[in-house]
Amino acid sequence: MKKVYLDFAATTFVSSEVLNEMLPCFNAVYGNSSSIHSFGRDAAAIVDRARDRVAASINAKNSNEIYFTSSGSEANTMAIKGIAHSYASKGKHIITSKIEHQSVLEACESLKLEGFEITYLPVDSNGLVSIPELLHQIRKDTILISIMSVNNEVGTIQNVKTIAKIAHEKNILFHTDAVQALGAVRIDVQDMEIDALSISAHKIYGPKGCGALYLKNGIKMEPLICGGNQERGKRGGTLNTPGIAGFGKAAEIAVRDLVVNQQKLRVIRQYFIDKVNENIEYVHINGDPHQKINGTVSMSFEMVEGESLLMLLDLEGVAVSTSSACTSNVLQPSHVLKAMNIPDELAQGTIRFSFGKSTSKADIDYAVEKLTEAVKKLRAISPITKAGRR
Ligand SMILES: *Cc1c(COP(=O)(O)O)cnc(C)c1O
Repeated sequence: MKKVYLDFAATTFVSSEVLNEMLPCFNAVYGNSSSIHSFGRDAAAIVDRARDRVAASINAKNSNEIYFTSSGSEANTMAIKGIAHSYASKGKHIITSKIEHQSVLEACESLKLEGFEITYLPVDSNGLVSIPELLHQIRKDTILISIMSVNNEVGTIQNVKTIAKIAHEKNILFHTDAVQALGAVRIDVQDMEIDALSISAHKIYGPKGCGALYLKNGIKMEPLICGGNQERGKRGGTLNTPGIAGFGKAAEIAVRDLVVNQQKLRVIRQYFIDKVNENIEYVHINGDPHQKINGTVSMSFEMVEGESLLMLLDLEGVAVSTSSACTSNVLQPSHVLKAMNIPDELAQGTIRFSFGKSTSKADIDYAVEKLTEAVKKLRAISPITKAGRR
């Protein structure tokens, strides 16, 4: 059976250039990068080079502003909790949005238990945070604003530079979850005035289990993981040399190939949307029509239940993602689509298609053929269809 992977926003394969960079770190160069002897120094040299590459990929002023973590989730948690704890004496109010990744939302929820107050900004129907609403919610005791650069479910790009500027005018720190942004849009932490930024290797053809936090020099952040003096005392734990080496290479390639990759993805995306529109009725595309990345398309199919659609596609070898999370047997529409005011019935018929470097037009042809059949099948048995929408 043909297999088509359209879930690159969930994770990517490790590219061969990245794999080659990693392989020696599993055996040939196995020292602990904290050790003083030559084995350790060899590992440290690899880590240093990777740190330089990651720093360059976001135009950090200094490589020592990069802190390697185990994931994007850890980087988000570490930034939000670490900054909150370090600046609590200044104030206990944090502003974020309703459409953030769970790691941001849950870090904020756990701070609430410690007496912090959190404002979750609403978004418009395209998933954009309202700037007037942000200005309205800023208080004297606001210490941190955290708004994601690119949403993982619908691909909307936020006005990060504007938001960071507003934060600084009010003497507030600004963090952004840029996990979906790296490789998709240009990131320049100096030009965009970003204080803290989270990224992850496995979304950019690097390995799983390796992320990084950029933290501008001079900003305080209590560590999340205690241990040795690794990462300048901000993150304990022996460094994951293979992962870090791979991340460095992946970050370098993501920026090197950004324009070419995005051009390719734009063509694939349009080809996909045109094919779907030719074959399937009652489809809605979610997200901002202009401020969006090319690799992700969120589509709502009327009179279709998303989980069933995902499973029918999986039977045909086509891998996609739903936005809804199935918790305790109750289908919960995604918090992102809910915040965008998409009606529950539509939200539950929503699929995220995400494309990558290896996605071909033949993949799209196959996927849309199977998608068309599956939607037809599900609509034939849908009670809503029978009730007479069509
Ligand atoms: C995937 C993702 C994360 C989490 O990164 P992990 O490395 O998988 O923990 C955080 N934020 C966004 C927007 C993501 O897409």
